[in-house]
Amino acid sequence: MTQTTSAHDITNINTSKMVYFDNAATSWPKAPGVAEGITRFLANDAANPGRSAHTMAVATHTMIKMLRERLAAMINAEGADRVVLTPGCTDAINLAFHSFFGAADSEQWPCRAWLNGARPKVVTTMLEHKAVRRPLADLVNQGVIDVDVVPCDQVTGVLNADAILARVDERTAIVAMTHVSNVVGTIQPVAAVGAGLRASNSHALLLVDAAQSMGAVPIDVQAFGADFLAFPGHKSLLGPTGIGGLYISPRAFTDDDGPDCMITLCQGGTGGGVDTMDMPRVLPRRFEAGTPNTVGCAGLLGALETAPPDALAHERRHAQRLMDWAASRDDVRVIGVQDVKQRTGVTLLVLDGHPSDDVATQLNERFNIACRAGEHCAPDAHRAVGTSPDGGVRLAPGPYTTDDEIEQAIAALEAILAG
Ligand code: PMP
Repeated sequence: MTQTTSAHDITNINTSKMVYFDNAATSWPKAPGVAEGITRFLANDAANPGRSAHTMAVATHTMIKMLRERLAAMINAEGADRVVLTPGCTDAINLAFHSFFGAADSEQWPCRAWLNGARPKVVTTMLEHKAVRRPLADLVNQGVIDVDVVPCDQVTGVLNADAILARVDERTAIVAMTHVSNVVGTIQPVAAVGAGLRASNSHALLLVDAAQSMGAVPIDVQAFGADFLAFPGHKSLLGPTGIGGLYISPRAFTDDDGPDCMITLCQGGTGGGVDTMDMPRVLPRRFEAGTPNTVGCAGLLGALETAPPDALAHERRHAQRLMDWAASRDDVRVIGVQDVKQRTGVTLLVLDGHPSDDVATQLNERFNIACRAGEHCAPDAHRAVGTSPDGGVRLAPGPYTTDDEIEQAIAALEAILAG
């Protein structure tokens, strides 16, 4: 008889002894409200929001409204409707780029007036994740845009706002940059770039990839001058996978019958009663066709309600300990700026003479420590900080990481270094 493996077997692997340092990939454990919120939702009112008028559907609608309002408040959006819920950060970035440049053929695309037939340009950076670089590469391959890629400082791993602004010219339609590097954990000068764009009266919109900052570092889209801000629910917000969002500024999109500046990539039901085959012009419904990920929304709302306070200070304390340990040795380096206030907890270590994949494998197999090695979906970022092609060992503590776990990681790395 063939033995089949059930989903329960796979998800029930005993991880109780595992020390988890892969929070930059996805946070774990999740906030306690995630499982509770999902269980409560599925048991009580897991209906389809915005469609039917019965009590359960209204309850689901209210839950999603609350989530949207909380997310909007977290980033100081002009209104909750400016937060479009997406399946994740990658989806949000793709939505921004493809719907914005998808409108390029439209007579009403606002950039047409000032581009005068020239090809639009996107200024981006070497620190970007493939979630930014690949959609841009796709648009380049289609002949829609040109891309200009700005390096960061090789030692600090920080971008220079003036260097980015210097690349912005009369063809620049978007500046796309990460708020926090997923490779080195350095915080980037998004507000200075936003202020520079507005001060110079540039037409360029600012897209911020907040994958590593949402829930970790304070965000104010209005103070940043951000026009698009993409974020996942499953990283520092401590929510489930499959839910994230895209903030869209009034400068990027207005609900009025104004210019059709962003096309829809997905069309379908939005619950509204209007008898037209066109997607509604209003946010967020314009970009939310079909039944939403209600379960993910319930989990993310549960996360927001129960996430521990002061996570950043907690994670920085752990990063500082790792930096102090590395500084005490000749054979270990923490890459990037050494001032912990310019970083999150994400810590990239290079151990001389020890390939990063080998270190991560040993951490897993010998010490039950989970981390991520290699290129971290951002090969150019490793080139920019001089850790290519091997990459580095990324230890990303989370809000639940304990002092004892940091000491276990240090002891394990010392044992690996001792051979
Ligand atoms: N940008 C950055 C900087 C990231 O670290 C990640 C996730 N590793 C993403 C974008 C994409 O996020 P997601 O995989 O959740 O869509």
